[in-house]
Amino acid sequence: MNIFKKSIEVFKKTKNNIRKTFSNVLSFSNLKDGDILKIEECLLAADIGFELTESIIDNLKKDKKKYENWEDLLINTIKSSICNINNKSEKLKKIIIVIGVNGSGKTTSSAKLARYYKNNNEKVTLVGADTYRAAAIDQLKIWSERLNVDFISNVNTSDPASVAYDGVNSGISNKHHHIIVDTAGRLHTSKNLMLELEKIYRIVSKLTDQISVCITLDSNVGQNGIKQVEEFNKYLPIDNIILNKMDGTAKGGIALAILHKLSIPISFLGIGESYDDMIEFNLNSYLKSLIKNN
Ligand code: GDP
Repeated sequence: MNIFKKSIEVFKKTKNNIRKTFSNVLSFSNLKDGDILKIEECLLAADIGFELTESIIDNLKKDKKKYENWEDLLINTIKSSICNINNKSEKLKKIIIVIGVNGSGKTTSSAKLARYYKNNNEKVTLVGADTYRAAAIDQLKIWSERLNVDFISNVNTSDPASVAYDGVNSGISNKHHHIIVDTAGRLHTSKNLMLELEKIYRIVSKLTDQISVCITLDSNVGQNGIKQVEEFNKYLPIDNIILNKMDGTAKGGIALAILHKLSIPISFLGIGESYDDMIEFNLNSYLKSLIKNN
């Protein structure tokens, strides 16, 4: 399946709900209280968040007559309601440190990023710095073999900062375009583990300032993902988000809540378990996939 078809498939669960509600409600000439309630329920179920939902409803009331069909009305109203609308992701830097809670897709995203850059004819080193979970290192090693990219890890140390340092050093010496560091999953409530993450960043910064910190979020956790970004960001400067598991979630609206609430851009969407299942985030394509019947 090509990537365009995939992106349409991805939002099916969220989209069905949105299409059903809005095609009924927005075809009426005036929005009645009952319609507004249905819109509210639908947007909240897609995890767009309360604040943005309220703002979308206010703008829908104002703009209802401006557009010929409900799809254009909804897309334009959503766009005019989102703060940080112009906040686009810049290219990720040479070193990419991948962080996040357990199960949010860090290891898979590291492999997907490696694949993405490899497809662009760039040289990549993958670094397995999850010293807590041997399985994560094994998994990343398997991905690196399949992708035919360099892989660095060290099972003899329990210090992830030293693995990260060695891996980044090796990638830089080999003149690789990107060095992707997979870290262990952690909760922001675990102070020691968060300080460990801070140390990884500090140690790698001794080698280069070309560092992007990328947090992976499981879209199924919805609004909680925003809290995860805010808390991790207290320890190291996150500059982009990978929103994973967008296939099969009914909470596909979370990307909009992130744009509205955070000044950190979304760079990619994870749309499956294979290393090919990642697409660049683009607000227009995302909204079209979510709302239009293409
Ligand atoms: P980590 O603990 O953060 O490193 O998470 P993993 O990369 O090990 O992923 C956890 C689980 O989620 C694995 O079973 C992955 O195959 C799965 N996974 C990761 N990304 C996606 C995605 O975009 N879509 C789906 N459906 N599954 C994903």
